[in-house]
Amino acid sequence: MVETVLLGDPTVRRNERRRPTRAGQRYVVRTFGCQMNEHDSERIAGMFEADGMRPVGDYQSADVVFINTCTIRENADNRLYGNLGQLKQLKDHNPDLLLVVGGCAAQKDRELVRERAPWVDVVLGTHNLDRVLDLMDHAQEWGAITEIVDELEAMPSSLPVRREVDYAAWVAIQVGCNNTCTFCIVPAVRGVEVSRRPGDVIREVEQLARDGVVEVTLLGQNVNTYGRDLAIDGRRRPVFADLLRRVGTVDGIHRVRFTSPHPADFREDVALAMAETPAVCEQLHLPLQSGSDRVLARMHRGYNVARYLRRLAMARSHIPDLAVSSDIIVGFPGETEEDFQQTLEVIAEARFDQAFTFLFSPRPGTAAAEYTDEFVDPFVAQDRFERLIAIQNQISSDQNQAEVGKVLEVLVEGPSRKDPDMVTARSRGNKVVHVAGPHAPGTFLHTRIDTAARHHLLGTVL
Ligand code: SF4
Repeated sequence: MVETVLLGDPTVRRNERRRPTRAGQRYVVRTFGCQMNEHDSERIAGMFEADGMRPVGDYQSADVVFINTCTIRENADNRLYGNLGQLKQLKDHNPDLLLVVGGCAAQKDRELVRERAPWVDVVLGTHNLDRVLDLMDHAQEWGAITEIVDELEAMPSSLPVRREVDYAAWVAIQVGCNNTCTFCIVPAVRGVEVSRRPGDVIREVEQLARDGVVEVTLLGQNVNTYGRDLAIDGRRRPVFADLLRRVGTVDGIHRVRFTSPHPADFREDVALAMAETPAVCEQLHLPLQSGSDRVLARMHRGYNVARYLRRLAMARSHIPDLAVSSDIIVGFPGETEEDFQQTLEVIAEARFDQAFTFLFSPRPGTAAAEYTDEFVDPFVAQDRFERLIAIQNQISSDQNQAEVGKVLEVLVEGPSRKDPDMVTARSRGNKVVHVAGPHAPGTFLHTRIDTAARHHLLGTVL
């Protein structure tokens, strides 16, 4: 179904884009949120550049500004409308400036974006990125337009791309999510799971390798359920473990990562594929969210702590030196001090190399946002948050300390932001390693780790 607000002539038609192109126009794409949004922004930039546009670094010199929005955290909304307020002043001075808002907030809030920021020219959702140029043409000819559709129209991977780096790339294997985590807005804005056919994924990875990419990260909301919506020859369904093995054997691809698996669906076949495919990195992001069974059940996570820890142990038993990261939410509605203590116990046992910790913030449209009478007092939640961070920081430091003396293969990302004589690189376990430069981005180095801090390692190139 197309839910469209057409301001002006409602004769705009799908994919009947007129040429001429926008050759010479300058654009900015500003991205909020997760890797999937980053990935989509690369496709937006790719479409703009295929149409002759070129990137610029600031709003002032742009002809087109695209804001790719996020709804995961509450302050993302504030930042969006703050940005749009700033852009209104520019638009007042330059009425030809074309403002486009896309992404998850646009998908979820629909006309609300235009109500709050009527100076925006185009609002489009997450499912119809391929329409951006048509809608921009329409807005310039007929006036502002909002177009949100509920079903995926084009896999972002089928669109042109402009990647930020030459040596690494994201590859979307699935969009959407069939789970119902009560804190999460993703299923509402990204829709049900849709997997790409394996041959399509492999073709993209092969092309990336021909273009010089050495590391790919497979992206999906729940990669372990990849393929459940597909059937090969009407019978067998592809599974993620097989895809991982196939991607790992593409010539020229030296590193394969993926994000995110769901603990409820993470099975031994994937751990074995990781262990038996040399290109797949010894790194796993396995979101725990809470260490309390009671809270996990209210989050609708589909596993309990014992099952989570069993799967983590299984993965570690197959993959020596596995580096593990996780996500943890503090202050979920109804969380008691006892629940929180259980989370502390689990992180002490799991010994994550890194944990992304979040204070619960209600997202309108989610079930948990309705649990208002059980919201945790903000001071209590903040106190728990700080206690959790202090303990996890110590664990991260200890885990990094254990790397000292090892020789690690690292992939150079670029100059260090703090020291121009150093470069920043990343280990297969996804740890940041600084070494003396210069070395070109995309170079593999063997380094001996000399010292460790909480968030990085320092090494010597061998
Ligand atoms: S698995 Fe849960 S947290 Fe992850 S995207 Fe799906 S609903 Fe959201």
